[in-house]
Parts: sequence; C-alpha cells; structure tokens
Amino acid sequence: MPTADEPKSAIDVSEIDELTPPNRTLMGPGPSDVHPRVLQAMSTPLVGHLDPSFVEIMNEVQELLRYTFRTENQWTIPVSGTGSAAMEAAIGNVVEPGDTMLVPTNGYFGGRMASMAQRAGGEVVEVDAPWGEPLDPADVSDAMAEHDPDVFGFVHAETSTGVLQPNVPELTAAAHDHDALVIADTVTSIGGVELRVDEWDIDVAYAGPQKCLSCPPGASPLTLSDEAMEKVLSRESDPRSWYLDLSLLEGYWGDERAYHHTAPITNVYAIREALRLVAEEGIEERWARHERLAGALKAGVEGMGLEMNAPDEFWLPSLNAVRVPDGIDDGEVCAELIERYDLEIAGGLGDLDGEIFRIGCMGYSARPENVIYVVTALGDVLE
Ligand code: PLP
Repeated sequence: MPTADEPKSAIDVSEIDELTPPNRTLMGPGPSDVHPRVLQAMSTPLVGHLDPSFVEIMNEVQELLRYTFRTENQWTIPVSGTGSAAMEAAIGNVVEPGDTMLVPTNGYFGGRMASMAQRAGGEVVEVDAPWGEPLDPADVSDAMAEHDPDVFGFVHAETSTGVLQPNVPELTAAAHDHDALVIADTVTSIGGVELRVDEWDIDVAYAGPQKCLSCPPGASPLTLSDEAMEKVLSRESDPRSWYLDLSLLEGYWGDERAYHHTAPITNVYAIREALRLVAEEGIEERWARHERLAGALKAGVEGMGLEMNAPDEFWLPSLNAVRVPDGIDDGEVCAELIERYDLEIAGGLGDLDGEIFRIGCMGYSARPENVIYVVTALGDVLE
C-alpha cells in the first residue's frame, strides 16, 4: 500500500471485500429496519427521471404522501435528500430575509430550525420549554403576542427527547391568530403517530422516510398548503439554495415535469413501496400498531425497573426515551448491544447526553419480535 504522502497510482481491489454489512436490528432513533418489499423495490431496474413510466410513479408517490400526511395539499413531494433537505426546503423557502421565525428550545431539532432560519436571513425568536417537555400552548400564545413572528416552527415528535407535542391545533390556532405560517417537523411522527396536516391546520410539514416509514434515507416528504406556497412564489428575493428552491422544483413536480435535477430514482421507488405498505395497512391501524408495540416495549423496560424520561401524556411511541440508571455508562451499553446482539439503540443528545437511552419503535421495527429482543437484550446487558 502507498504511504500517506505517496500518491496512489493503483488500487488493490482484492483488499476491499465485497460489501457484507452486518445484519443489525435497528431499534435506535432511525434509520429503522427497512421492509423487505422496500429493499426489493430498490433492486428493480432504473428508468430515466423523465421517463413516462417514472412520471406515473411520481404521481403515485404524491398521492400516497397526501394520504400519509392526511392532506389534500397539491404541493406534496419527496425532496431529494435526507430529512434535513426537506427541512431546509421548508424553512429556506418560507422564511424570507427580514422575517421573524419563532422556534422551540425544548430539543435538538428546534435548534436546527433556528440555524436554518438564520441562514435564510431570518431573525430567530424563541419559545421556551425544558428538554423533555412539550411546548405549552399558552407560552406559544404569549410568544406570538410578544414577537409577532411571520413563521412559527415546532417539532411534533422530538427525536432527541422522546416527547410528543400534544395540542397541535391549539398551537396552530395561536400562530394563525397572528397571521404566522406554521412549519411542523414530522420526521419521527409520519406514519407512526397520529398526524393530521389539514385537520390540524399545519401550513408546512416536512418528514423523513427512514423512521416510521421504514425506508432508507434519500427522498424526504414535504407538503405545503396553497397559502404557504403563495408566500413562497411571491418572495421578493430568491431563496439562497438553488437546489431546494421550490419555485424551480415546481417545474419538475408540478404540471410541467421538466428537468430540474436527476431525481434519486431508486429512492423514489423505495418511498413508493414504503407508502404503499402504509396505505395497505391503513394509516390509523398503523398508528395503533405503533402505540401497541411501543406500549409493550415501555411496559417491558418499566418492568425491569427502568424509568421513562417523558411522562405518559407526552410519551412518543416511535421514540422511547428511557433514563440511564445511576452508575451506568450509556455508551458502553450501546456498544455491548451492538457487539453481542447486533442491536442498535442510542444514547442521549445535547441536554440529555448521558441521561437517556433512545429506543426506537418505528415502522418495520415495530414488531413483536423486535420489541421482545430489545427488552431482553437490554435487560441482559444491564444485569
Ligand atoms: N428532525 C428530526 C425530528 C429528526 O429526528 C431528524 C433526524 O433524525 C431530522 C430532523 C433530520 O433528518 P436527517 O437526519 O434525515 O437529515
């Protein structure tokens, strides 16, 4: 092998084996286990991104996304990229330079919203709640009255804390009373916990495919109401990102179907199959399955004497935050689970670093065998 300062003129491919990733059980904060039908869809032949058959697939994905988001929004697409790309498409288009965006402080992803709003030229103001608690609608109303923001963002399912934001219609009503548009982070809720974009009056929602949809990352759901899209299309200045400019993406995902970028065809196949599985199961049945299986997981860890971080009213079935017992190193537990059980869970982030385990129960991972496995393996490692 050449040394570090010697240029590589050839590569000895015999030293790089055929790909054989370990066969993990994914019970962390995402990605979750991918459904075999989704993997199968990903191994089907590529067609061009403007092929008439692909245009049909695009229509189907949009229709299935509307079903899953519970929305009639015309503007419903899979953004090419991970959940953060859909997040940046939402914030980078809706927030104009000089706009004020109200963001929550109760978790890691509210912080990311703030960074994106700032980069979009917005002024960021905050509504506070501790990590591990949801926002209080009264605090949101007060913050609206104090700051009169143009945009309000909240995280429906905070992956960093395992907290579900209840009372969403109250939050959206508070924002609309002040004519603010509402952007919801639904990355860890879509397809796993009750989410009703239209009924709850959410203007913009973005999501990720790799959590409760059990699909690899790469094409990330986004939906915008007509009113939100009207703001986007009447911006005075172009969004800073060309790639995520929704007025340009409209050419590809709207009626025209003209080239904008080469869509990640295989990821679009994948999300189509993942969403077909949602529709086959039925969205409400799917929410109920997550609650039932995660309820068993919660009962299992509580039965071992462990404590959930979030009170029952805010418990997020798709992401179970379990307190790390005193004297236990969360990193060592996660490493041992990988080593001995090929099982992925995660530790805490930010304010909850070292304090919680994060155990996902998402999509194809929300099955009895996975739940029994994670509870018994964790019990064994903690013994
Ligand atoms: N928002 C939330 C709540 C998330 O959990 C994540 C990822 O875990 C993201 C946004 C960002 O998504 P991605 O990592 O796919 O870019």
